[in-house]
Amino acid sequence: MDAHALARRICVLGALRGAQRVLLHAGDEYALLSGVCDALAADGTFPAAWIGLASAGSAALATVAVGGADALELLADERVQGDSVDAPGRDTRREGGALRGGDALPDSLLARWRAASGGDGAVAAFPLKIGERTIGCLSLVAADASALDGPERGLLDEFAVDVGYSLGRLRDGPRAMTGQPSVDRTVVDDPLTGLPNRAAMRRRITGAISSATNSRGLAILSVHVGHFDEISDTLGRDAGDRLMSEVAVRVAAVARSGQDALARIGEDELVVLLQDADTTHASDVARRVIEALYRPVDVSGMQVDARGTVGIALYPDHGDDAEELMRRAKVAMYRAGADGYYALYSGLHDDERRRRLALVDDLRRAIDADELLLYCQPKVDLRTGRCCGAEALMRWKHARHGMISPTVFVELAETTGLITPLTQWVLEAAFRARQRWHEARFDQPLAVNVSARDLHDPRLVDRVRALMSAWGIREGWMQFELTESALMIEPATVIDTLRRLRNLGIELMVDDYGTGYSSLRYLQQMPVSSIKIDQSFVRMMVDDAESGAIVHSTVELCHALHLRAVAEGVEEVAVYDALAGIGCDAVQGYYVGRPLPVADFPQWAKTSRWAPAHASVPTS
Ligand code: C2E
Ligand code: CA
Ligand code: CA
Repeated sequence: MDAHALARRICVLGALRGAQRVLLHAGDEYALLSGVCDALAADGTFPAAWIGLASAGSAALATVAVGGADALELLADERVQGDSVDAPGRDTRREGGALRGGDALPDSLLARWRAASGGDGAVAAFPLKIGERTIGCLSLVAADASALDGPERGLLDEFAVDVGYSLGRLRDGPRAMTGQPSVDRTVVDDPLTGLPNRAAMRRRITGAISSATNSRGLAILSVHVGHFDEISDTLGRDAGDRLMSEVAVRVAAVARSGQDALARIGEDELVVLLQDADTTHASDVARRVIEALYRPVDVSGMQVDARGTVGIALYPDHGDDAEELMRRAKVAMYRAGADGYYALYSGLHDDERRRRLALVDDLRRAIDADELLLYCQPKVDLRTGRCCGAEALMRWKHARHGMISPTVFVELAETTGLITPLTQWVLEAAFRARQRWHEARFDQPLAVNVSARDLHDPRLVDRVRALMSAWGIREGWMQFELTESALMIEPATVIDTLRRLRNLGIELMVDDYGTGYSSLRYLQQMPVSSIKIDQSFVRMMVDDAESGAIVHSTVELCHALHLRAVAEGVEEVAVYDALAGIGCDAVQGYYVGRPLPVADFPQWAKTSRWAPAHASVPTS
């Protein structure tokens, strides 16, 4: 198999692995269908995935789940045009009472997708069956048409069979609805309890918020059923299901009056929406729910203890959107701790947030006061066994908290807008350090990590140009590491920025490869010179065959694209040797050397076992 075919196979297998996990864990039909579409569309191999189901008495399919932004746009457009949203349904029409899976998206839709994405791509529909009955179809758009051909096609066919099987399993639960549920019920209801599911509850809460008046609030109660896992594990899934059915009946008896609503939003979690509620009323209902669950439940002749825990969040005090309120009610539920208690969400749960805010303040000061440190870690060329550059890594020595990991404060900076000054600090420090290396007759490239935000900052290129002339930086002296996922956000804009950086003489590399999206189509257009294979695969490559295969195929992929392959996280000689054996170009990791202050690097490099042959001769 050539490197491209292998890469394609890895992408398809990756998408399917995620989707397969959904099949195993989804607790209701909605979670299953939407989870499958989301998982299939998650990494860009299939930019759009959607599922249409037949509704009783109609030949058309109704789209019940959609994954991928492209799909949303496409299907939304289709709706605007007055067609039904079951775009591929026209190719999966009933034929003699059965649905047939077709291969083509209606031409108009496929043409529009191709125009919008600038690619060729292809589409295929896979019939979904429960037993012999075809109940709908799964449609996929592939960026690379061959992902829908040959052996990949076979994998997808098999997967569609699994989806049908899993749907059948869910529908045949102990309280299976009689007959074929209408599409609406399928999407809205939890098949076991017949209650609305999370999506339906989200809509209910959103509706209630929009009609709530200033004087009247809402309460959201998160009810968690204790011992659900234990009971399911020891007595079987059916027993767990019976327990949940009974719990739902009891909670409904307490909570459901008039406009109040109840939903099952997780395997062992119910949510109650109380209209016109304040703290007193909500606490009162919570107490009654707990009382109602106190009585043992009869499951297969055994008396099991259901025990509920309840968390309460109030609108408008604790949030103003449905998801936030459900989440906070759940936080409160965890706060309630032991079974048989309830708790009201309180700002105190935001301790964490407050700590983060204080840290942001400190970070802002640290940048201004130049309290950050620049370290760097060596990279070694596998063919020569010599040092071939270093990666610059930030360190923050906090006066009270000690050393804080960049994984904590970089993310913090990214979410609070501090990343721009932070990156400016790093660039200054790194460019200055690189000039000092040159003065010390040590000329090796130094790589700086640039975050996704920076890449979309329109002033980045100008700043870099200014720094280069300020420090007399020459072509090839500096490199930028950009994470794979950062590159795939608006790739067309990114490609333009990267070209301008490269024209300034900055060498570019893809970081953390394998953890994000992998659109090969875009990767091929990026002016990058190397790819760093993520440590999660590298560290396990000797012990875990799958990781080994991923590393190996990524090295081949790099070479097919004329890129250098760099492996990071090399901690042991066995991994180092294995990488040398498969033709990887360079490595970085504790085995070679730990990060050290950037000023100490030339001395370390010249005296280490990886000493460059001519440490003072500039490398290309
Ligand atoms: P990264 O870019 O993937 O950097 C590699 C990280 O792996 C570094 O962690 C490094 O110390 C660590 N590492 C290197 N070799 C080994 C090894 O053999 N085993 C293990 N277990 N770890 C190894 P560090 O310095 O904590 O940095 C973490 C992340 O923080 C970096 O991941 C990068 O994403 C971010 N970061 C660090 N400095 C900067 C910066 O200046 N700017 C930006 N935007 N991000 C930075
Ligand atoms: Ca990096
Ligand atoms: Ca990395």
